[in-house]
Parts: sequence; structure tokens; C-alpha cells
Amino acid sequence: MSKTYKIAVLKGDGIGPEITEATIKVLEAVQEKADFKLDLIYGEAGAHCIPTFGTNLPKETLEMIKQTDACLKGPMTTPEEAGAPPSVAVTLRSIFKLYANVRPCKTFPNVESLKPNLDFVVVRENTEGLYSGAEFQLAPGVAIALRIITKEACLNVVEYAFKLAEKRKKHLTYIHKGNILRITDGIFKEAVQELAPKHPTVTVDDLHIDAATMQLIKKPEIYDVLVTTNLFGDIISDEAAQVVGGLGMAGGANVGDNYGMFEPIHGSAPKYTGMNRANPISNIMAASMMLDYLGETDAATKIEKAVTEILGEGKVRTLDIGGTATTSEFTDALAAKVRTL
Ligand code: NAD
Repeated sequence: MSKTYKIAVLKGDGIGPEITEATIKVLEAVQEKADFKLDLIYGEAGAHCIPTFGTNLPKETLEMIKQTDACLKGPMTTPEEAGAPPSVAVTLRSIFKLYANVRPCKTFPNVESLKPNLDFVVVRENTEGLYSGAEFQLAPGVAIALRIITKEACLNVVEYAFKLAEKRKKHLTYIHKGNILRITDGIFKEAVQELAPKHPTVTVDDLHIDAATMQLIKKPEIYDVLVTTNLFGDIISDEAAQVVGGLGMAGGANVGDNYGMFEPIHGSAPKYTGMNRANPISNIMAASMMLDYLGETDAATKIEKAVTEILGEGKVRTLDIGGTATTSEFTDALAAKVRTL
């Protein structure tokens, strides 16, 4: 009997609705020959909700998400004024304890990358660090932000990274700034050292964050799984995405023990809103990661294969990666490719 998964779909702001629509078309194509169904439940979230709901994550949406198996989240605009609601992504990561943010970086054919055949993954701690949102003004012109690091969260994300490395090239690089942040990054380092003996097949090394940003440009081919704390991971994963072709190619997963949320690693790219020119691959690859998380690995692989083949043919590519196709032209071609596999 075919299985049905309930999926919360949040279209987001800016280019979010366009790339979500594109992703749904590809998901429809992959379901045609599959023995599972996705029951898509749409929810309102994002900056566009604030005037109506007074928040970017209405209570009804949150309750709806709790009833689903996974969430496909479009990028959202986060207001930057003091007192504005926090980022929806950060809120959901914290509520659902999605401690690992997984960002694969892989070269695709005919997409310019710094070096050929790159394949590594950035795993970022997703629930604490400088994303605690705890900032205080001590006096006019003087403020502090709390970088909260707990052993529990470090152990969770590092264990995830070790297990991932075991399934891949068995090399884990942990990234920190332990020479300056001796206590907080000391805890992170301790977590790695404590878990390493449980994973004897994995080679472990480390980099300071500043050196890591340089090494990712100089020798990205030597890495397999990189694990780090929240803000460092946010920064190096955008850098890593550019190393393999840009933000339009980069999907990501936010996973915990009981739930998964899948989104492109980029933001809402407001300057491209409604222009039918955004690259939907990032969101489509996030959807592929969602299928993999749900256990539908054949469908997940089929999407990745279709993306690889269509880029390999070199005829239909969006503007950000040197082509001329619109979002909808690329999507139609990709959905047609999925149907042939
Ligand atoms: P951004 O990632 O939205 O865009 C930066 C640039 O990358 C864009 O201007 C565009 O040139 C390019 N780009 C990104 N995605 C693309 C795509 N799919 N196709 C083609 N080009 C693409 O970063 P930003 O401008 O710093 O942020 C815009 C908003 O998004 C902000 O409000 C920010 O807070 C928010 N944001 C949200 C998330 C999230 O929802 N998880 C993540 C990051 C940023």
C-alpha cells in the first residue's frame, strides 16, 4: 500500500513562492511512478504575515507544522529592527530541536566551481551559539550578545557529523576559534574529543575558523565533513556554496531526533522577487534531502540525477549559473527529465 507523508509547505518571501512552486512541480513529477504520496499542507509564515498576524510565524501555522512529518520551507525575509520577530528558521530550529544543519556542497556539470569534482558537507550547530538572540544594551553605545554553547548541543551535532562521515569519506574536520573563545569553543572541542573514540574509522582534524575560510578556497578537495558552531557554520556554508557554483545551487536540511525542516541555504533574494529568474535548484535539492530523510531514497536520488543530467546537457540553465532559462523554463525541463527516469 502506498504511504502518505504530511508535508508542511511554507512558501516564504521574495523569491520563495516562485521556487516553492517550481519544487512542487518536480515533486509531482517524481511521485508519478513512486509508491508514496505527499500530502502538502500550506501554511502562512514570513515577513509578509507581520501586517496581518502581528508575527512572522502565526500560531495556526506552528500547530499545523506539529501535525506533519516534515517541513519544506521557502526562504523568508527577516526584519532587522530591534524588537522585530526573530527569524522563522531560527524559531523553528529551536522549537523542534533541529540541532544539525546539513549543507552539501557538490559540483554539478557545467556549473562553474573553483575546482572540479568537489564533494563535501558543512554540518552546522543549529540551535544556540550567537543565534541565542540574547542581546542586551548595557548603556548607550555599549551592548553584548550571548554566545551560548552547551555540551549537550555540541555532542548532538558532532555525533551527527561523525555518523555522516562514516557513511562518506571518513574524514571529519572540526572548525572553531579555540585560541580566543577558550571556554565556549573549549566545550565544542571537548565534545569532538569525547566522541572520536566511538568512531575509530573516521580521521579527525581541526581548523581555526579564519584558516578554514582560506582553506576552503585553496584546497576544498581535501574535505569531507566539516562540523562547526552556529555562526561560523552559517558563514562558511555560504562561502562553500559559492565554491561549488553559488547560492542558487545550495539546498539544506535542518534535522533533529524527531523532525526535519528543509530549505535552501540562501535567503529571500528580494531583488529578484517575481522576476521568474531565480534558480530553483537550491530548493529542489532541499526537497530531495527531505525525501531521503523520509526514507524515499529512490525518489531523492532520481531528483539529484535529473538535476545532474539536465545541467550536463548544458542547454537549460538559469542566469545565475551562466544560462538564459527562466525559473519556469528550467523547472518544466527538469520535471520532464524526472519523468524519463
Ligand atoms: P540572499 O541569500 O537572499 O541573497 C544574496 C544574493 O544571492 C541575492 O541577491 C542573489 O544575487 C543571490 N541568490 C540567492 N538565492 C538565489 C537563487 N535561488 N537564484 C539566483 N540567485 C540567488 O541574502 P540576503 O540578501 O543577505 O538576504 C535577504 C533576506 O533573506 C534577509 O531578510 C535575510 O535575513 C533573509 N535570509 C533568510 C534565510 C532563511 O529563510 N533561512 C537565510 C538567509 C537569509
